[in-house]
Amino acid sequence: MRLPILAGNWKMNTNLASATELVNALKNDLTQLVATNQVQVVLCPPFPYLDRVNELTRGTGIGVGAQNMYFETKGAFTGEVSPTMLTDFAEYVIIGHSERRQLFHESDELVNKKIHAALANHLKPIVCCGEVLETYENGETDVWVRGQIHAALKDLSADQVRGLVIAYEPIWAIGTGKAATGAGANSVIGISIRGALGDLYGEEVAQAVRVQYGGSVTAKNIDEFIVQPDIDGALVGGASLKADEFVAICRAGLKKSA
Ligand code: PEP
Repeated sequence: MRLPILAGNWKMNTNLASATELVNALKNDLTQLVATNQVQVVLCPPFPYLDRVNELTRGTGIGVGAQNMYFETKGAFTGEVSPTMLTDFAEYVIIGHSERRQLFHESDELVNKKIHAALANHLKPIVCCGEVLETYENGETDVWVRGQIHAALKDLSADQVRGLVIAYEPIWAIGTGKAATGAGANSVIGISIRGALGDLYGEEVAQAVRVQYGGSVTAKNIDEFIVQPDIDGALVGGASLKADEFVAICRAGLKKSA
């Protein structure tokens, strides 16, 4: 069985005080939850709070992830953060989030370079993919998502791919309150994402990679996604900023092994 993984993307929210408060409010419940070894949980705060969140979660089993990184390890790249800098504070890194792709024009090629750099520096990438509303409405999601997976994974070995987490995040569902349906997300993940993985690396790898759903996940709708056979957890934005709600979402991961 693939271990479910629930990740909270705080985006550009919180300050030092509220980030600390949020972790303190989550910590006991999530520590108990991850101690079951049936669910993994990752908190992805903004860069300036990674150190604090890492310190507060040390020894709890709760993972910490960054929301982005550059692919170079050092040099004249003003404003960027390198994978080697992140390794002191984070185990995971979100790569290719649609907000990065849309607002900061990150290309498939850049996403691929970042994945290579993250893996070379022992960070675990959470690789995002997903289509805009027009692509969805035109029935072109399968072609789009397969294309993103092929481009993102260029020149990665099967062993490297086995360790990735992929997040299917339809862009029309992110931050809109309009989540996909469980069956719809399951079909894109099962057919398009695992299909592309199977074409590239064979069925064993396709079945080994963990794939999350993301897009307006809440405590109310998480069950609809988590019960789906091809969905291994969730990447949660807005709802991860509310301690009780995020804990409830993470607890739903236990239903995978029930
Ligand atoms: C996200 O930030 O990746 C996300 C899915 O956001 P939300 O849950 O708010 O839609």
